[in-house]
Amino acid sequence: MTISLSKGELIRENNFIGGLWVPATDGAQFTVTNPATGEVVTNVANSGPADARAATNAAAQAFPMWRDTLPKERAAVLRRWHALILENANSLGELISLEQGKPLAEGRGEVAYGASYVAWFADEATRIYGDIIPQQQRGKRMTAVKEPVGIVAAITPWNFPLAMIARKIAPALAAGCTVVAKPAEDTPLTALALALLAHEAGVPAGVLNVISASRDHAVATVADWLEDSRVRKITFTGSTPVGKYLARESASTLKKLSLELGGNAPFIVFDDADLDAAVTGLLAAKFRNGGQTCVCPNRVYVQDGVYERFAALLSERVAELKVAPATDPAAQIGPMINVRALEKIARHVDDAVRHGARVLTGGNRLPELGPHYFAPTVLADATPDMALCCEETFGPVVPLFRFSDEAEAVQAANDTPFGLASYFYSQDVRRINRVGRQLEAGIVGINEGALASEAAPFGGVKESGYGREGSKYGLDDYLSIKYLCQGGLD
Ligand code: ADP
Repeated sequence: MTISLSKGELIRENNFIGGLWVPATDGAQFTVTNPATGEVVTNVANSGPADARAATNAAAQAFPMWRDTLPKERAAVLRRWHALILENANSLGELISLEQGKPLAEGRGEVAYGASYVAWFADEATRIYGDIIPQQQRGKRMTAVKEPVGIVAAITPWNFPLAMIARKIAPALAAGCTVVAKPAEDTPLTALALALLAHEAGVPAGVLNVISASRDHAVATVADWLEDSRVRKITFTGSTPVGKYLARESASTLKKLSLELGGNAPFIVFDDADLDAAVTGLLAAKFRNGGQTCVCPNRVYVQDGVYERFAALLSERVAELKVAPATDPAAQIGPMINVRALEKIARHVDDAVRHGARVLTGGNRLPELGPHYFAPTVLADATPDMALCCEETFGPVVPLFRFSDEAEAVQAANDTPFGLASYFYSQDVRRINRVGRQLEAGIVGINEGALASEAAPFGGVKESGYGREGSKYGLDDYLSIKYLCQGGLD
């Protein structure tokens, strides 16, 4: 089967519920804009609780049938979906760039990255093993089997419009769950396009349902899922306050939760590091998606002996980064997602400068390009009293903190409520072993800035949340264990 659609053909304006494209119950819509220009892309359904309920009804109806499919049948459907995503990689990449703003090369890269989770979980679907428990009593047979948890509600952010939702839907479907999903209000189009391709791939009606809602509507819409006891799991990627809210509000029906929340990633450069490698690793980790990822280094700690040299090498490379709209093939940094994001970045830079930071490069908005652009920035002499030390900047700003010994660096790195990603560069094997153990984070990059892989467990500790996405562990969040005890066998 080959279905190759243009970007325009992938755009859907209605909700996808029970295998049908339907407008919001009350006909409401909201506008999706291109962050590069502020221009309207299209209007999509502005869902409310009635639409959330309709999605749950469809998912509930489809669940017994999907649960009872053979794992290899689910795998085959996921493989077809994977193939269709790749077949449409160019159009999907353009769509991601259009609604999210990232450079086209990154948009296409995200398609491949998101698709890799679909392929991974297609394979994992066939490896959901249980156990036969060694016999404890005569005449009794005890087994443990894994079953799908039930209906999964997926709520996703705007920074990876395809990858974030694909890596929730794929394991859910692989496990035999049905899904209701609400993508971020800034970027609903890619998720709706994925639903279109899933349908074409043979995902049965009701197994995957996607609804869009504006920020104002999201609260009441999602609340319907939180209160509905048929929804057995929430999987969320987004900010820590919203994650805590979802945990609180879903407690009345005790849902299983996976929360991939904010980070405040440290990046430590020791005196014994390969500085060129550290600069390259930092550029890769920090400037992906213009600094708008939850694993982007937010605080860079550089040891005394190499501080000035590292700062000079880094600033030189950062100053060369090309800022432009996604449509410019040379673009390396696109616009920020919205005005709210830009204002936070500007506030962090202004606050840092007020507290004594030196601007080595950048530090300013780029209004000549459009309303959402900020220059890639390096700030020296950062200190813990600056807002950017304790809040996630989520933009192209690198603050350089200075430290003198290892214990001080580890202490500073861990001095945050968050614990998603962390990075360090060193060539001393004993230090690598020590620091790798001491960093409080779910993910540690050692002499490496690019960590993401469908084969690796992605997730945090502390207030960065719980649950893991990808890897052989990624299915566990969508399964529950059933113990079967059969008697009378002697
Ligand atoms: P960000 O700050 O990156 O936009 P959010 O945590 O605010 O991250 O949003 C992530 C997702 O959570 C989006 O899909 C958004 O619509 C949704 N969301 C935000 N607030 C709520 C809420 N109170 N209830 C339900 N969903 C919400």
